[in-house]
Amino acid sequence: MNRNEMLQQIESTQQWDIIIIGGGATGLGAALDAAERGYKTLLLEQFDFTKGTSSRSTKLVHGGVRYLAQGNIKLVVEALKERGRLLRNAPHITSAQSFILPVYNDRDKWYYGIGLKMYDILSGGLSLGKTKILSKQNTAALLPSLKSENIKGGIQYFDGQFDDSRLAIDIAATAVHYGATVLNYAKVIGFKKKDGKIFSVDVRDELNNIEYNLRGKAFINATGVFTDAVMQMDEEDQPDLVSPSQGIHLVIDKKFFNSDHALMIPKTDDGRVLFAVPWHNEIVLGTTDTPIHKISEEPKALEEEIEFVIGHFNRYCNNSIQRKDVKSVYVGLRPLIKKGDGKKTSLLSRDHTIIVTKSGLVSVIGGKWTTYRKMAEDAVNNAVFVSKMDKKECNTKTLPIGAWDWPIDKTNHWYVYANNAKHIKELIKENALWSEKLHPSFSHIKAEVIWFIRNEMAMTIEDVLARRTRILFLDAQSAIDAAPMVAELMRVEMKKDNIWKEDQINSFTALAKQYLLQ
Ligand SMILES: Cc1cc2nc3c(=O)[nH]c(=O)nc-3n(C[C@H](O)[C@H](O)[C@H](O)COP(=O)(O)OP(=O)(O)OC[C@H]3O[C@@H](n4cnc5c(N)ncnc54)[C@H](O)[C@@H]3O)c2cc1C
Repeated sequence: MNRNEMLQQIESTQQWDIIIIGGGATGLGAALDAAERGYKTLLLEQFDFTKGTSSRSTKLVHGGVRYLAQGNIKLVVEALKERGRLLRNAPHITSAQSFILPVYNDRDKWYYGIGLKMYDILSGGLSLGKTKILSKQNTAALLPSLKSENIKGGIQYFDGQFDDSRLAIDIAATAVHYGATVLNYAKVIGFKKKDGKIFSVDVRDELNNIEYNLRGKAFINATGVFTDAVMQMDEEDQPDLVSPSQGIHLVIDKKFFNSDHALMIPKTDDGRVLFAVPWHNEIVLGTTDTPIHKISEEPKALEEEIEFVIGHFNRYCNNSIQRKDVKSVYVGLRPLIKKGDGKKTSLLSRDHTIIVTKSGLVSVIGGKWTTYRKMAEDAVNNAVFVSKMDKKECNTKTLPIGAWDWPIDKTNHWYVYANNAKHIKELIKENALWSEKLHPSFSHIKAEVIWFIRNEMAMTIEDVLARRTRILFLDAQSAIDAAPMVAELMRVEMKKDNIWKEDQINSFTALAKQYLLQ
């Protein structure tokens, strides 16, 4: 993927079949689906791909155990199917993860035991492992950091785990392989209509400050928490549909939670689910569910959310953590669909909805990463129907994502690139210095940065350190330390000047400091 080539395609195309706004999980999924079906497809993302919610998930590919408790079997079954499909279609960047749910009385042991057995049965042929009821001793052996005095035992069940932004890059690359054009740093700023129907979008290339008017037959709005803003570009008086809910994650060193099994607390004081999940050699703790009113691309953790996560981790685990032990805090906004007064977002539906306006704009809202493929399929089906294009079959249920072959070796960090790892390593022949590490605490090397620039449309230090690698999310201080080296590599490779480099370092450092708990 190369941004200049994408710009050339935009300039040389008279009309697109489907224009997708938003480069998160849903939009990229729609681009892959539409391109594979043979529609001339364009995706426009205002920042970098997955700058929004789609880089800020808890990293679970899951059916949603808690929706089972809410009795929403249909939602769980659909998500479990999608979980299985995703693990099968992208095995290089997803894996099965064992979870332990500790229980503190016999009633809970049976309640959660039966519920999680059902969760496994509902996954049908796509089970990731059998649910087991554990004794107190086995629970303590699998989770040695858990305070074990009061536990009665535990339940072991399986869900999936993944790297959200890396999967998104693979979805984008696969979409491009099937003929899609995907452009980051391209903000949609308006629509043009004829006889009340949208026929083009106004787009600003945020890096070159050039505006384009691009014609299409169908338009998909996959902008997550920005859905209302885009719908109101279409119809000014369109009422708000999204009720954003904020969730935070704290990343801590594995020494505080010494296990490859994840911990799941099904019901905290305020009825939330709390996870401690191993991810890229660290532990992700989260999350919260706080209704918010201000939508930002860089949402901030609230003090009470931080206290909640630290306090609950310390309540359940032996090795207490303090603020200084948090290596990174990242925050995401759930695009939940509005109902009632929006005060208790944890009860709002995680299902997705499609809304088609009079002008033909197809908005796809809600859902979760796990169900991105189904959301994309529904959005493309609606776009084709509304625009009266010829119907073509969706093939993404079994479509491989990215370039991978068995066996996949996950013992080192190169697995995230699957078959491209060898091409990245070959870059060292071009410059031996590119074998040097970006930071002593991480295995990433300089050649990876060159690869991201040449093949993954990384345009800023943030793209490299937040989403192509996950260093910012794993250890914000290491990301700040690595920034000057990344900036210099980018300056030379992208033929930028020193002013660009200094600007990049300054703006990235200011951003990364927000991921540190001072
Ligand atoms: C805290 C938290 C934890 C979660 N954990 C999980 C999990 O473990 N597993 C799971 O399955 N799901 C999880 N989810 C849900 C999942 O992350 C989201 O449902 C999903 O990422 C939403 O993707 P999206 O593409 O709809 O939205 P987004 O990722 O927000 O993408 C929308 C994109 O549209 C772009 N955009 C907006 N306006 C414009 C414009 N005018 N022009 C161009 N582009 C524009 C934005 O910049 C953004 O990149 C979690 C969510 C949160 C908040």
